Amino acid sequence: MAVSSAPGQLAAAADDLSAGEAILRRQAQRESAARTYARSLPVVPVRARGMTVEGADGRRYLDCLSGAGTLALGHNHPVVLEAVRRVLDSGAPLHVLDMATPVKDAFTTALFETLPRELAEHGRIQFCGPAGTDAVEAAIKLARTATGRGGLLAFSGAYHGMTAAALGATGDTDMRATVDADVRVTRLPYPYDYRCPFGTGGERGAELSARWTAHLLDDPKGGVQPPAAMLLEPVQGEGGVIPPPDSWMRRMREITASRGIPLIADEVQTGVGRTGTFWAVERSGIVPDVMVMSKAIGGSLPLAVIVYRDDLDVWRPGAHAGTFRGNQLAMAAGTATLRHVRENALQVRAATIGARMLSRLRGLAAHHACVGDVRGRGLMIGVELVDTAAEPDEFGAVPAAPLLAARVQQEALRRGLIIELGGRHASVVRLLPPLTITDEQAEAVLDRLGAAIEAAAASGPREAPGGAG
Ligand code: PMP
Repeated sequence: MAVSSAPGQLAAAADDLSAGEAILRRQAQRESAARTYARSLPVVPVRARGMTVEGADGRRYLDCLSGAGTLALGHNHPVVLEAVRRVLDSGAPLHVLDMATPVKDAFTTALFETLPRELAEHGRIQFCGPAGTDAVEAAIKLARTATGRGGLLAFSGAYHGMTAAALGATGDTDMRATVDADVRVTRLPYPYDYRCPFGTGGERGAELSARWTAHLLDDPKGGVQPPAAMLLEPVQGEGGVIPPPDSWMRRMREITASRGIPLIADEVQTGVGRTGTFWAVERSGIVPDVMVMSKAIGGSLPLAVIVYRDDLDVWRPGAHAGTFRGNQLAMAAGTATLRHVRENALQVRAATIGARMLSRLRGLAAHHACVGDVRGRGLMIGVELVDTAAEPDEFGAVPAAPLLAARVQQEALRRGLIIELGGRHASVVRLLPPLTITDEQAEAVLDRLGAAIEAAAASGPREAPGGAG
């Protein structure tokens, strides 16, 4: 956190400060009440490089939010900037719907080089609308079209995006006839070690969750709408950074394969090295039928695709269209990112540094009772905060501490650290630093987070957060 100190710079900083505050004020007046990050992180970013974001007030922050896990290489990485400049300077069209271009061809090649072999060799790619949620919609629609079934298997704690009603509101009877617009979801238990619904945790809890799934699917009176697919995150992100055992992933693969249910892996947040392997599914060795990808594949620009087994490619031409499926800059930035991560084995670096950060955080947990759990995979790390002053629930679990977590976020911001909250009661501090994080930056993140937890805990678990620094 560096503040300019020369007199001229101080005056300029004062101007910038008021400019920043005015921007924040105008945003609060004009933008939707649905705005989120802007509320808890009142920063006006004006420059960014790698992990560092500089606000309009001249303050610098270490960014552990990384565009909600988008920025695998951090902000403005040179290889990304160069790739974007090259397209701009070449005179290539920036908008081409879904037409073939050299830029798109290069992206598809680079992406296929990273995929599990079966998908790379027998896969089809569908460019969807620009966001992760567009690709999730496409995956569900594809599975429903291919299977003719209307149900969907999804998990407790899952997050897959915000669109739902688009198709339901579309008037084209033909289009709607291919897929009944109302998806009926059967909710299944995701293995959540720390708050295991079966009271056992570990491999046993995960096995019970698998048994429940298989049993329910086979029960003719189980009330399950025949499922078009099972949709799962290989590590839950927004749900509170929850990595399931590999054995459970394999069980889900067996259960779906043996019942002819396509398995959709939502790798929107876990992909491109984040969890220590290039794709999170690689760790358990499973190959899904459909993979949903967005965030990091666009190298910080919007891009979303699904890749699926070619026998699922039952769509008619135009069955899933959209104007913005040909973002050339995003494809160029994405190609550069995929190549850079792969060539530099940044997924391995994520595994190593992530493990080191987890171990230091576990040390922190030993000193702070309010740290209930520390977990993660690679550079997807979660610290679950609990209210030790509250009565445990009927199963002996310590309640979550949302107010404390909000205070930790503010204390961290005051110390020049941007972190996000997630989990069931927004009580999990989430760290999603870029894969390029240095050892020194990792130490600084943990120092600042440790100090923030200490300061927040000193005010008590229920003290409401004040104004952010
Ligand atoms: N799936 C997962 C696993 C996600 O984490 C997210 C976003 N956090 C989405 C889908 C939706 O992506 P988007 O916000 O780009 O629509």
